[in-house]
Amino acid sequence: MDDRTTERAAMVTQQIERRNVQDLHVLEAMRDVPREAFVGPDMAQFAYEDRPLPIGEGQTISQPYIVGLMIEAAEVRPGETVLEIGLGSGYATAVLSRIADSVYAIERHDALTQTARKRLSELGYDNVTIRTGDGTGGWEDAGPFDAILVAAGAPSAPASLKRQLAVGGVLVIPVQQSDQHQTLTRIRRTAEDAWETEQLGAVRFVPLIGAEGWTEDGQRVASNDVPARDLSLPDMISHAAEPLPDPDDPGFGALFDRYGNSRVVLLGEASHGTSEFYRARAAITRHLIENHSFSIVAVEADWPDAAVIDRHVRQRESRPLDDVPFSRFPTWMWRNTDVRDFVDWLHDHNDGLETERQVAFHGLDIYNMGASIAAVLDYLDNVDPDAAEIARERYGCITPWQSNPAAYGRAALSQSYRDCEADVVAQLQSLLERQLDDAENGAGFLDAAQNARLIRSAEQYYKAMYYGGAESWNLRDSHMFETLEHVLKARGPDAKAVVWAHNSHIGDARATDMGAARGEHNIGQLARERFGDKAALIGFGTHCGTVAAATDWNGEMQIKRVRPSKEGSYERLCHDAGLPRFLLDLHRDPALRTRLEVPRLERFIGVIYRPETELQSHYAEASLPRQFDAFVWFDKTNAVTPLGPEHRRDGMPETYPFGV
Ligand code: SAH
Repeated sequence: MDDRTTERAAMVTQQIERRNVQDLHVLEAMRDVPREAFVGPDMAQFAYEDRPLPIGEGQTISQPYIVGLMIEAAEVRPGETVLEIGLGSGYATAVLSRIADSVYAIERHDALTQTARKRLSELGYDNVTIRTGDGTGGWEDAGPFDAILVAAGAPSAPASLKRQLAVGGVLVIPVQQSDQHQTLTRIRRTAEDAWETEQLGAVRFVPLIGAEGWTEDGQRVASNDVPARDLSLPDMISHAAEPLPDPDDPGFGALFDRYGNSRVVLLGEASHGTSEFYRARAAITRHLIENHSFSIVAVEADWPDAAVIDRHVRQRESRPLDDVPFSRFPTWMWRNTDVRDFVDWLHDHNDGLETERQVAFHGLDIYNMGASIAAVLDYLDNVDPDAAEIARERYGCITPWQSNPAAYGRAALSQSYRDCEADVVAQLQSLLERQLDDAENGAGFLDAAQNARLIRSAEQYYKAMYYGGAESWNLRDSHMFETLEHVLKARGPDAKAVVWAHNSHIGDARATDMGAARGEHNIGQLARERFGDKAALIGFGTHCGTVAAATDWNGEMQIKRVRPSKEGSYERLCHDAGLPRFLLDLHRDPALRTRLEVPRLERFIGVIYRPETELQSHYAEASLPRQFDAFVWFDKTNAVTPLGPEHRRDGMPETYPFGV
């Protein structure tokens, strides 16, 4: 027995049985097959985690639960002959081979077929036959099959596969719905010419590409029941796009009147260092404040830092003891000329207004992620510099979320790292307690009971944050959303807020790799669940230009060149539409929406940008029209200008926001 039997048993109990997969054949087979043998050595450490993992060729090994769910749904039994389309890593095929008599599997990427063949034969699984090719046509000579499983999402169930089922046999396949989701679908052949269809629930898979699936660029392959489309996707985007003027043009905000009745308008950004994204958000926000009575601006930033700005823009007394706000890494994110201009505007706008009508500026992060990370690094630098290095690497991958499990591999935990946890968490909690005690600098709108609750749940948050895993993501986004609800509530039942946060926080997580596959949620998803169509989720994107970013956490800010967007990404489609700036309302053209829904690559740059490993570090799969209600495009963009000594204004008191 290898030494991961226990881990595997725990995976089956926690991830599979607990989610109600009960088929004993499935549970037994999954306890048997070593999943680590089906991922590269760099991923082996994560083999029993509850998520898909990269396997090369832009593909993933399915989350263990999905494998269990599909095989149970296919009712595979000993003695049967089974076909799998989308061999990928070979893992699901291996599990099937522990139940059925013979298993056939097809994969369109030959490199994956070769690797899987080697793995399966090393494990001695000799009842498996695999080949490279387009699986949408099935495997005529080897059929009929008692079960066919398709591990990629199809526009509809391929007729060839339905015909290759034995009578009584079952096809399990994710099918694209015209609305929000792929649905896992079970089709049973009940007679020579009869099939029964059943829907089993929402899932997310990579697209099934082939003669009876999608084309490479995500179009449905023309067949008799679907009219062929004349226009290319970039042409369709170009038709649907509403050109935007420069953000400084007074007409810019007017295009966003359609969101005037929302309770919350969430404005994203595709990096934390692009001037156009800040200027566009400022223009939209000014318009919503002046014309649609929005009264709250809530941003992805630490509460106490934003509170200094809030006091300034609402003309409250400034307090001499305050730290200079936003003076920690990544300073350029909020200390730049675009934010300063917006803060100046807010200050002037509020001038002379009664308190209730003044616009507030809040940081959503009462737990102070930025300050907390700085405190962790300070502490570890003193007690254990090696552990500090690990922490830097880990924090490099958590803001924003990046699909780069390899980075976790480099940051394997040492015992000393674990040993420091209790001290660090205690320090962070007392920091928070001090801030909340200080009524004016603290949350203000929270009562004593809420304060106490916040401090209690902070322990869990700080622990998770210390390790920098997926759990900290969910805790952080839940917490930021709760803060948003609190600030809205404090302003009365009709209060309306504009939120500024990264695309990865404000785009609906269910439409990205984070969501359906990894169980991560975010502000955008929670806002939709809470406010329905009164929440507007607006993403931003760019093709190329420059960006302000660092290479490592706490590293120097650099102006980096943004690589031209990748072939096959949403960004490339927008670039090919040929317009410098536009608003794409994703509800406007249903035909375009359907075609754009097929998941594609999307770029996520945070405070860290690593162009050398851009594909792994910054691209992830998403379905743009489900993620956002609209997408704002700037083909070419420029880095923000950080505030330096030259921006100091004479005569301003030290506490002036951004005073240096
Ligand atoms: N069962 C696999 C899942 C891999 S993801 C695992 O657990 O590892 C789905 C796979 O389907 C990808 O490798 C993709 O390349 C493949 N695929 C997509 N369209 C296909 C087609 N028409 N024929 C065969 N394979 C296809």
